[in-house]
Amino acid sequence: MSTKIVLATRNLHKAQELARILETLHADITVLTVADFPDAPEVEETEDTFEGNALLKARALVAHTGLPTIADDSGLCVDALAGAPGVLSARWSGATENVDEENLNLVLKQMLHTPDESRGAQFVCAAVLVLPDGTEVAERGVVEGTLLREPRGADGFGYDPIFVPNGLKVTTAEMPAEEKDAISHRGQALRKLAFSVQNLV
Ligand code: IMP
Repeated sequence: MSTKIVLATRNLHKAQELARILETLHADITVLTVADFPDAPEVEETEDTFEGNALLKARALVAHTGLPTIADDSGLCVDALAGAPGVLSARWSGATENVDEENLNLVLKQMLHTPDESRGAQFVCAAVLVLPDGTEVAERGVVEGTLLREPRGADGFGYDPIFVPNGLKVTTAEMPAEEKDAISHRGQALRKLAFSVQNLV
C-alpha cells in the first residue's frame, strides 16, 4: 500500500518542488498537501530558526491529520544585511500583493550601495519529517551564491531572479526546475531526509 506523506505548505511553488524531489526517491509514496486538509490550522512562524519554524508547521499538521508530515522553512540570508531577511524572507517587505516582487525589490534597494565583491548570500532550508509517534528528523541544506543588481529569469519564485549560485553564470530563475532541484537548498535538505522517508515505506 502506498505510504501517505503530507507536505506542510500552502506555497504552490514549494509544494511542486518538494513533490518533484520526493518522486525521485522511487518509493511508493502518495504526496498530499495542506490543500487536501481544508480545516488544517494556520501556523504562525514565531521561531527565530528555520528548524524551529519547520517543526512548528509539521507538528501542527501531524496533530491534525495523524499522518507523517514533511515541512520546510527556508529563506535568503544576505551577508551585507547581517543574515537578513533570514526567517523573515517571506514577509520582508510587509507587502500583501506582489509579495515576491516587493520582497526582492526591497533587498535590492537595501543593497544599492553594496559593492560587487560583498554581495554574497545563501539560500538556507531546514526540512523536517515528523511522525505520528513523535519521531522528529531535521536536516539542513545551504546553497552559496551572489546577488545581482537586476532580476533575471522567469522561472522559480521568491528571490530566484537575483540569486546566482557560486560557480554558475545563471540565476536560479533561469534554470530548468530539475537543475535547480539538483543544487538547491531544498533539494539538499530533502535528499538528506530521504533515508528517513524510505524507512517509512
Ligand atoms: P517560508 O519557508 O515559507 O517561510 O518562506 C521562504 C521564503 O524564502 C519564500 O517566500 C521566498 O521568499 C524565500 N525562498 C525560499 N526558498 C527559495 C527559493 O528556492 N527561491 C527563491 N526564494 C526562496
